[in-house]
Amino acid sequence: MYPVDELKTILLNRRIPNALLFTGSCEQEKKKVAMTFVKNINCLGRDLTSNDQSIGSQSDSIACNKCGACNKIDAAMHPDIITVAPEPEKKIIKIAQIRELCGALVSKPHEARMRMVIIEDAHAMNRESANALLKILEEPPERTFFVLLSASLNDLLPTIISRCRHIRFRPLSLAQMVQRLVAECNVPSSTARIAASSSNGDMEVAMMFANIKHKSFSQKSYGGKPVCKSCLQSDEIITQGVIEQECVETEPTYTTDWISLRRWLLDQLFLLVKDKNSSSAYLYALVLAEKLSRETARMPYYISLIKLWLRDIALVRYLSKNGNLVCSDKFVNSDFVHELSNIAPGLPENYPVRGLEAIHAAEIKLKTNASVRLVLEQFFLSIIPECHQG
Ligand SMILES: [Zn+2]
Repeated sequence: MYPVDELKTILLNRRIPNALLFTGSCEQEKKKVAMTFVKNINCLGRDLTSNDQSIGSQSDSIACNKCGACNKIDAAMHPDIITVAPEPEKKIIKIAQIRELCGALVSKPHEARMRMVIIEDAHAMNRESANALLKILEEPPERTFFVLLSASLNDLLPTIISRCRHIRFRPLSLAQMVQRLVAECNVPSSTARIAASSSNGDMEVAMMFANIKHKSFSQKSYGGKPVCKSCLQSDEIITQGVIEQECVETEPTYTTDWISLRRWLLDQLFLLVKDKNSSSAYLYALVLAEKLSRETARMPYYISLIKLWLRDIALVRYLSKNGNLVCSDKFVNSDFVHELSNIAPGLPENYPVRGLEAIHAAEIKLKTNASVRLVLEQFFLSIIPECHQG
């Protein structure tokens, strides 16, 4: 059963579990579904006590989207929706945050039929926090339910899992992601396809590569990521063209123009490979390593883009070797097919494999205390064809 259908059934039966556990890779999708769910429960435009047969029958949302409750939930201003998330730097949910939550749950919900507590990255709870949460789950506060979000069941205490109704979110297919980017975010289909193929099945990453950024659904945030009022009031989606927008009240939050950034990175990679003068290629490699080393937060995405570029090179070589037509729909970087077809056939036989090995090795080193710049220098130098050990 799809998550949305499962939740519709819960609504129809009007038996909300004390705790739901949503697993799956796309955090934004899980949050969005949780918000729709809580809105359906609390919408004032619907009388849930009546025998309304339309509930859950037509769309994902049975909420009116007009009433006070719906508006507050949409604006992330509802007092009875509480979010707990790991502290940005620490990456763990500390026991102090769960204790603070306990304190907040002592009083009755302000106005909601049902109050919702979302635990983001529930796997980030350490044992102490998880045990403290378990106590609350065992004696749930009045008119309150919990939604735990986690990528997988790994790292969650079995006692926590056993307390929750588990709902799995399977990754969207490439076609579904493209369709959503086009239909819901007005992204041109060619951009949507590149963004979705570059995302490893993560809708949030696909949106990022398409320059679409969903605002956090965070409401009250206990130790988590606060979101300022002006951000909440602005449109939920910031569309293309905004390169750096500063959130006025909290830490600056930036939206990156990933459409341009990806193209720039690929141009640099082609430069490294294309230039027959190896000394200028060395220089490109060093400059590129220096530049990227200053952007550690973006590193996982750069690495992912480099891997996909190598994958495309392997594909061109495979297709041309087997006499197949090199057509753009097979490639992640379909906008670079011309460059790929020009460059790839002239590269050493094992170039893509060695390149992937090198980027994998770099990835491992970057997780240690190694100098980011040195690791990147070593990698970029290794993919200059003249330096490439056959
Ligand atoms: Zn409503």
